[in-house]
Amino acid sequence: MKDKFYKCVCGCKVLSVSKITDYAEVTEIELAMYGYGTGDRKTSFREKIRWCWKILTTGNGWEDEIILSEKDTKKLIKTLEKAIK
Ligand SMILES: [Zn+2]
Repeated sequence: MKDKFYKCVCGCKVLSVSKITDYAEVTEIELAMYGYGTGDRKTSFREKIRWCWKILTTGNGWEDEIILSEKDTKKLIKTLEKAIK
């Protein structure tokens, strides 16, 4: 399985899904989340609103969440199902 990547709806992060093939007898899936950072890109309006809202309501910006679109969620489900077959 090739690694798959799913982008947050606001553009802040990417979720990667990798199948670990180092050990043959078990199936293991690695889910990793990477921040895009803001140094070399423009933040989307939606991303700015999310940050502001999170800070206003909780006092903290979030670093550990990703929101997938319905389309990408369906793709992720198919990817995970395929990976464990
Ligand atoms: Zn985001």
